[in-house]
Amino acid sequence: LARKTVKGTHKSDFAIYDNFLHTQVSKEKMIENRMNEALKNNEFIVYLQPKIDLSSRKIVGAEALVRWRFPSGQILSPNDFIPIFEKNGFVTDLDFYVYEKTLSTLQKWLLQGNPEIIISINVSGIHLNEANFLDRFLGLLEKYNIPPRLIELEITESIFFKELDRLVLIINSFRQKGFLISIDDFGSGYSSLNMLKTLPIDILKLDREFFMWNEMGVQDKIVISGIISLAKGLGLKVVSEGVETEEQVEFLLESSCDMAQGYLFYKPMPVEEFEKLLDIKSI
Ligand code: C2E
Ligand code: CA
Ligand code: CA
Ligand code: CA
Repeated sequence: LARKTVKGTHKSDFAIYDNFLHTQVSKEKMIENRMNEALKNNEFIVYLQPKIDLSSRKIVGAEALVRWRFPSGQILSPNDFIPIFEKNGFVTDLDFYVYEKTLSTLQKWLLQGNPEIIISINVSGIHLNEANFLDRFLGLLEKYNIPPRLIELEITESIFFKELDRLVLIINSFRQKGFLISIDDFGSGYSSLNMLKTLPIDILKLDREFFMWNEMGVQDKIVISGIISLAKGLGLKVVSEGVETEEQVEFLLESSCDMAQGYLFYKPMPVEEFEKLLDIKSI
């Protein structure tokens, strides 16, 4: 009956909400129906976003970020499909595909004698609960002959709120192999200062949310510079994400932030574009 009444000339909020839900559900269905085929079709593509050393403004690394390019040419952002894949488990297949593409690219660069560069990859919290993740990942590094010191594993802090002890063990096992470890999106949700002092990490990535205002207020600045000095005091390097203005750069330099990643410098770009930018020789 409710549906009948909203079929009139003007839609009620209910109808709009219903419609929205329906669209969401069918989009999710479509994504799930197509994901396996898409992986086989090479529809998932790795983009690279440069990381900048703030004082020299030189590129010191890059983060691998996945995109889904449909046969129609439309590009889907990871926020539209990663959460779905984390729910249905497909994220493991996808991530290993991304890792494989990224490592084989890095191998090509190294074989051509290009300078070494650190590449960051995203490690979904799901993987940390998989017993064989580390072995499988190490297998890939061996396959492509990549030294672990060139790989930074970005782990999202939102999964850290429980079982800190177990996480310390897991992170330590990665670090013993020589990987760099960063805590991603710090400050976005479940941050705790306890994590900061307990987790054996190398790098802290300040969440983009901190920089979403065009003009940072005094309060924002106090919080950001406080976190940076805390992290530096603990011996960590700090990367700020989502840096979009020179004003932010100036402030971050004053606060001794080491690196930045953001549209002010570069957006994520296809591998070929990154190679041109850095004058990387590739096969
Ligand atoms: P993230 O790890 O926090 O990655 C940073 C996101 O911020 C990227 O979004 C990047 O494009 C965006 N970004 C960087 N600088 C700026 C800026 O100045 N302004 C704005 N507005 N945005 C900026 P993207 O590529 O859409 O990725 C979204 C999230 O999806 C990532 O957030 C990460 O959590 C996840 N993700 C991406 N690729 C992968 C992957 O291969 N595996 C897994 N498991 N997750 C991935
Ligand atoms: Ca990340
Ligand atoms: Ca992040
Ligand atoms: Ca994020």
